[in-house]
Amino acid sequence: MIQVPIAQPIAASPSPLAIGELMQRQRRFFESGQTRAYEFRLAQLQALKQAVKAHQSEVLAALKADLNKPELEAYLTEIGVIKEIDYAIKHLKAWMRPRSAAMPLEQQPAKGRIMPEPLGVVLIIGPWNYPFQLMLSPLVGAIAAGNCALLKPSEIAPQTSRVVARLIAHTFDPDYITTVEGGVEVSQAVLAERFDHIFFTGGTAIGKIVMAAAAQHLTSVTLELGGKSPCIVDREIQVEYTARRIVWGKLINAGQTCIAPDYLLVDREIKPALLAAMQAAVREFYGDDPSQSPDYARIVSDKHWQRLSQYLQDGQVLIGGETDATSRYIAPTILDQVSLDAPVMQEEIFGPILPVIAYDRLEEAIRLVRSKSKPLALYIFSRNKEVQTQILQQTSSGGVCINDTIMHIAPSALPFGGVGESGIGSYHGKASFDTFSHYKSVMVKNFWFDLKWRYAPYVGKLELFKRLVG
Ligand code: NAD
Repeated sequence: MIQVPIAQPIAASPSPLAIGELMQRQRRFFESGQTRAYEFRLAQLQALKQAVKAHQSEVLAALKADLNKPELEAYLTEIGVIKEIDYAIKHLKAWMRPRSAAMPLEQQPAKGRIMPEPLGVVLIIGPWNYPFQLMLSPLVGAIAAGNCALLKPSEIAPQTSRVVARLIAHTFDPDYITTVEGGVEVSQAVLAERFDHIFFTGGTAIGKIVMAAAAQHLTSVTLELGGKSPCIVDREIQVEYTARRIVWGKLINAGQTCIAPDYLLVDREIKPALLAAMQAAVREFYGDDPSQSPDYARIVSDKHWQRLSQYLQDGQVLIGGETDATSRYIAPTILDQVSLDAPVMQEEIFGPILPVIAYDRLEEAIRLVRSKSKPLALYIFSRNKEVQTQILQQTSSGGVCINDTIMHIAPSALPFGGVGESGIGSYHGKASFDTFSHYKSVMVKNFWFDLKWRYAPYVGKLELFKRLVG
């Protein structure tokens, strides 16, 4: 069994020079070949799992400080990364196995193989909304695929960034995996380096900056971005369940979730009943005054609080609307009578505000979804299979969840990622391994004989070629 090295603490916010030095050391570590062995990868995954368990209370406290994240939500959505580690541990051997590929008759005797190999030194940049899980979950794929990794957590969740850096430093040799902390300047200094892959989670605008930086070195990217994820509600539903599932998906982490339902498109006939049930669900979850609930998170920064407060003017407040600048509180809010041109319908909301738009015919809802960039998630609430199929076939989105929200992100067997402006590439489970691997095609020939049909002189061989090509 390979020993997991105990690493030295690293310096926060290193200079560009220090980043260059870190990179060189990681490259040397990768070149040593250590990361390729199954036993090594397994040991590192097991070490990561132990580290998450050991640092659990620190992580929860940091998430509380950064986002007032309720403990249950933190377990479910952040510490829950342990399930992803377990899945990788369970399947690692099978993922690493080369696959054979059938070779055509004219190539015989020959064997074909497709071998996964690690990419090298990879960069993982994370956002602030699920600041722990969104650093570690891609890291699971990077380790499983046999890479070295440099992590750059978000400076907007500084306490969690610290804990991630500490956990990583206590668990891994920094020449293998390390963290650099800091804001935009550090991110830009890191992006100036040549990596073998960049895995970025964040907003679409910064995604473009990351991709431009990667292009300088022709580095491949995975971009896990955001967007406006629609929630289409047909009339054939169980109203209370639908209401609870939408309210929950919209309000965990106070709406600061990349796949939160961004806006609601609801059949006009069911709208009054659904809104009444949603109001009841908000009260059931958070009481008459959600600002007093221990289960309701806060907005991450003053800047985001101000941005969100502006949206409250974009429609008629049906539920909620209360705010408090000091505690960065925004009440669970439903907005009616919203203009499609209003900022709340043009920008990703990323907060606890849900605009509602009624439709008379499903085609109207589909047309509206199609008029916007392809979203990261799309939600369909309907018992009617034809309605489900029509929406599935006529819209494009990173993923879809039918009759629930958010939950499709959880199973490791479902790749998670965006399409178009909501992202490039996907991860979770085997998809994470694939994201951080290069699949190398290998053909093996032997020396049994050497037919001369392809060699010059070509005279008399053309007819044979024509028959081969068909
Ligand atoms: P962001 O894009 O502002 O920041 C993400 C990271 O990029 C941070 O680490 C930050 O330091 C760095 N960064 C910021 N400006 C930069 C610049 N100019 N150059 C280089 N690096 C820079 O995103 P955010 O505000 O932290 O997160 C919110 C966004 O992330 C939302 O749009 C949300 O939908 C998206 N998101 C997507 C997913 C997903 O899985 N697809 C998950 C969570 C969040």
